[in-house]
Amino acid sequence: MADGPRLYRPRSRELPAADEALTASLNDDQARAATFGDGPLLVIAGAGTGKTRTLIHRVAALVARGVAPERILLLTFTRRAASEMLSRAERLVGSAGARVHGGTFHSVGHRLLRQFGPAAGLPADFTIMDQGDAEELMQLARGAMGFAKTAKRFPKKETLHWLYSRHINTELPLDELLHRDAPHFLEYEPQITALFADYTMRKQERNLVDYDDLLLFWAMMLEASPELQSRIAGLYDHVLVDEYQDTNLLQARILRGMCSGHRKLTVVGDDAQSIYAFRGAHFRNILDFPRQFPGTTMVTLAQNYRSTAPILALSNIVISRAEERFTKDLYTSREGGEQPWLVTAKDEAQQTRFVVDRVLQLHESGVPLREMAVLFRAGYMSADLEIELANRKIPFEKWGGLKFLEAAHVKDVLAFLRVSENPRDEVSWYRLLMLMPGIGDSTARAMMASMQERAWDPDAFTHLVPPPRAREAHRALSVLLRQLRGLATRDGETDGAKVSSDIAAIRAIYDAVLKEKYDRPEARLADLDQLRTIAAGYPSRTAFLAALALDPPSSTQDLAGGSESETDALVLSTVHSAKGKEWKAVFVIWAVDGWFPASRSIDDPDELEEERRLMYVALTRAKDELAVVYPMQVYGSRRGAEYSFDQLSRFLDRGVRATMQRVVVEDPGEAPVAAPITAPVVDLRALMRGRFGAKS
Ligand code: ATP
Ligand code: MG
Repeated sequence: MADGPRLYRPRSRELPAADEALTASLNDDQARAATFGDGPLLVIAGAGTGKTRTLIHRVAALVARGVAPERILLLTFTRRAASEMLSRAERLVGSAGARVHGGTFHSVGHRLLRQFGPAAGLPADFTIMDQGDAEELMQLARGAMGFAKTAKRFPKKETLHWLYSRHINTELPLDELLHRDAPHFLEYEPQITALFADYTMRKQERNLVDYDDLLLFWAMMLEASPELQSRIAGLYDHVLVDEYQDTNLLQARILRGMCSGHRKLTVVGDDAQSIYAFRGAHFRNILDFPRQFPGTTMVTLAQNYRSTAPILALSNIVISRAEERFTKDLYTSREGGEQPWLVTAKDEAQQTRFVVDRVLQLHESGVPLREMAVLFRAGYMSADLEIELANRKIPFEKWGGLKFLEAAHVKDVLAFLRVSENPRDEVSWYRLLMLMPGIGDSTARAMMASMQERAWDPDAFTHLVPPPRAREAHRALSVLLRQLRGLATRDGETDGAKVSSDIAAIRAIYDAVLKEKYDRPEARLADLDQLRTIAAGYPSRTAFLAALALDPPSSTQDLAGGSESETDALVLSTVHSAKGKEWKAVFVIWAVDGWFPASRSIDDPDELEEERRLMYVALTRAKDELAVVYPMQVYGSRRGAEYSFDQLSRFLDRGVRATMQRVVVEDPGEAPVAAPITAPVVDLRALMRGRFGAKS
């Protein structure tokens, strides 16, 4: 008898019988990719050709082949996409599928940094800053260099952050970047470099990590120490990436570090759908893949399974106008389907009326609301539609362009939580100090300097001597902060209920500030109610703050923690947030030149090409019905003019229009034209005859 207990290893459940079942619903090329052995694999193909489906099947096939699921890493563009794909893999291979690790590059980077950061000199309890915070910190650095008021031409905090982020993500030297994208700031290159150094120091001293650091530190850990690399890369045997066309050089570097040992890397994507250049992505990255990973096997797919032939014909033409692309025109064997509609509306009101009416009509004919989507170039473009939908009580969900977390009052409340979490969080301190009466920029800076002198000791705030007008607020805030720290440490970890009672405690002070500041604070107070509900869903304050900063939710649904919606609701989405999705019916609104393409992209050939790809992404989301709507008259208050008559989007040129049918919305103000009556409903002559008693 061996000593010690015997190990019982539960069998993994529900393994599928054979490979065949896994590939039965794939075509030959898809199946080849799904069951491909090891080594770098690139699937590059147009929209709706089943790239994502193939990737899901590949995950399932690996598990079926005996690869341990927790040693598979699936990287996707959103958290929602990862969980959807994994639950589909689960349906193929059973519960083992759920153990596959999935997430965005940023969320995986975050996890690894908490785990391995200490080995690389990074304290494990760092706080993540979102973009807004990072800009605020840039502002503090800018002010410290004396650029606060003077030197108007010195780049603003948003520009500084944009330059910094671009520099990190594209790996272009700063001078080259300035030369290319902001030549008017070239003269400030030395100062900008110094400012970035200061920004980096501030982050370090305050234990803050920005969004880009999550990727950069991940790459650096892999590159700086062979020991760390083997530990980190050693976690996974296979790495798979969806939407590879939207990754940047830094992400490619990470993948090299993760896979250099085993080279078991699969990426799928479509260069014609690359739409994240503003985040440093470049469509050439996917074309370069075979060079970066020698020995790559490449699979292309050309059959589109998503759209009807007329919709595909339209999108093929739109993208055929691109200056440069690798993926070829697609074909479909789907028969039937109407020509896409090109709907001319008089103005925005009529556009809204058309969309709402047509949505209801389709709904009455049996299409669930969640099978329909309205897409637009930018988040604000759906405002009128949102109001109308709310009035008509038609449920909808909005994806992308979500301002909830960026709203000042939400950030204020989070700032209280964050200074309790990390007393060195300078950005949040600044927010809080500026909320107090009688405290302006210079007092706030002076107060922060004295807290720094006390090494950000948790009681440093209490010891500050506030200006007389702020005395009351200072006292209340001291009490609150001590209370929050108490709540946090009583049982070690805070749990969700405590995070939400933290928020209640904060609101006991903060609601008054809001009521003071706004005449009609109701909507904002309701936001804070929502924030509290959301907080209750997280296991700890750390988890809550990290999740908010890290995975900026792309819909109100995401925010509430739900995955796929149970309720039937129409989807309103920016085109960016619609990536990878599909609906039975799709409406693309505001197909107006200057709106889509956006006006600022019109003079830059590269940006214009990106807008074209964006239009291609929008059109290729439709399965059965597609309507592109074009309001002719734009109420121009947004653009300064009273009214202007605008041009149809340049992407819908004559050749494209030949594949569409024209639809004009009838104005209810005009007298309705009665349908002609074809069969007699009265017989006037018989009536006349009857009047005088004549026989008929
Ligand atoms: P995108 O470029 O928009 O991300 P994609 O290439 O990832 O698209 P998928 O979303 O995987 O395409 O597939 C598009 C649609 O076609 C889905 O509804 C999918 O289920 C279906 N599909 C893909 N391949 C097949 C197939 N072999 N047989 C039947 N349906 C398929
Ligand atoms: Mg896809």
